[in-house]
Amino acid sequence: MDLFDKCYNYTRVEEVKAMGIYPYFRTIESAADSEVTIDGRQLIMLGSNNYMGLTQHPKVLEAAINATKKYGSGCTGSRFLNGNLKIHEELEEKLAVFLDKEAALIFSTGFQTNQGVITTLLNKHDIIYADHQDHASIVDGCRLSLGRYLKFKHNDMQDLEKLLNNTRDLNCGKLIIADGIFSMEGDIIKLPELVALAKKHGARIIIDDAHAVGVIGKGGRGTASHFGLENDVDLTIGTFSKSFGSLGGFVVGEAKVLNYVKHHSRAFIFAASPTPAAVASVIAALEILKAEPERLDMLWKNIRKMKKGFDEMGYNTGKSESAVIPLLIGEDLKTFRFWRALYDHGIFVNCAISPAVDPGQGLIRTSYMATHKEDVLDRVLEIFSRVGKEFGII
Ligand code: PMP
Repeated sequence: MDLFDKCYNYTRVEEVKAMGIYPYFRTIESAADSEVTIDGRQLIMLGSNNYMGLTQHPKVLEAAINATKKYGSGCTGSRFLNGNLKIHEELEEKLAVFLDKEAALIFSTGFQTNQGVITTLLNKHDIIYADHQDHASIVDGCRLSLGRYLKFKHNDMQDLEKLLNNTRDLNCGKLIIADGIFSMEGDIIKLPELVALAKKHGARIIIDDAHAVGVIGKGGRGTASHFGLENDVDLTIGTFSKSFGSLGGFVVGEAKVLNYVKHHSRAFIFAASPTPAAVASVIAALEILKAEPERLDMLWKNIRKMKKGFDEMGYNTGKSESAVIPLLIGEDLKTFRFWRALYDHGIFVNCAISPAVDPGQGLIRTSYMATHKEDVLDRVLEIFSRVGKEFGII
């Protein structure tokens, strides 16, 4: 028995590649934008989280270049020791103001933010109640933490209540954690019911707004703002790799709590801080988000157009209420073949198969940007209509 046997015996990818329908790790030869070049061909990008379409904004690029010139290419250390720049603190102050919270703390990725915050706050006898469809970084944070990890059925507040009732008599710290907008299905957590249950049971709430900031809420302020529950979510976590068009993660909330996280989180203390270019581009993106609210209107015009278009054709778009619109296809291979047909017609989308979704529930995940043009989206709908009929899906 050799440790590497599983690697040598792993043939699935080669089999799917041989069929010409392997959809992952496509090599992009151009800038991240609403259209990209792959294999020398131009494709319409419907598989990105660049919701505000800011990755090519001249002010964002200029900020990244200027910060690189001023501070260099990297920080070569953690915030805790040698890697704490003035712009890290400036971004934290601006984020706290934007989301109207006492403080913010930025991490090097959104993944580390979830992992770092959850593992730091949950002690041995504490309990986490997490949605079944929470992002992998929440799952890993819960698994790594010393707390007891309980999962409730996806967006099912009765199931959450059952778990809370079962553990009602335990005098311990309790945390309910969920994505604000779920990354694959694009639905929104039932926050009002969740908040009511948290209050009743004395639980704290963390919402991961990776796909919600820049998409829902007042001026793109995310899920709590969408429901008018800004004062009821204890910590909001987010990422810079989606609407902010950069890299890194953040958490906002009470200053005392974040000060504790800052001095205890291993994912924060033992990782190099975000690069000057990444931080400066987020500061610029945040300014644009505030100064150009019409971007949010443009995004929502595109989302409504596509959701209506797909629904009218007869696609099953599930419970999507955001910039993520999934289309249910079915078996894994059928999903891959569908992906390939779209690819051949010049559309780039993402494929989700099991275990990311339930077996036989493979889906094509489409997502939208403020910068997608109307005539391009018309073309997309026309292609989806043709391919959907060919595959017998609509
Ligand atoms: N949370 C959610 C809901 C996400 O979708 C993602 C990224 N896919 C992350 C966290 C991790 O963020 P990052 O890519 O910045 O590490």
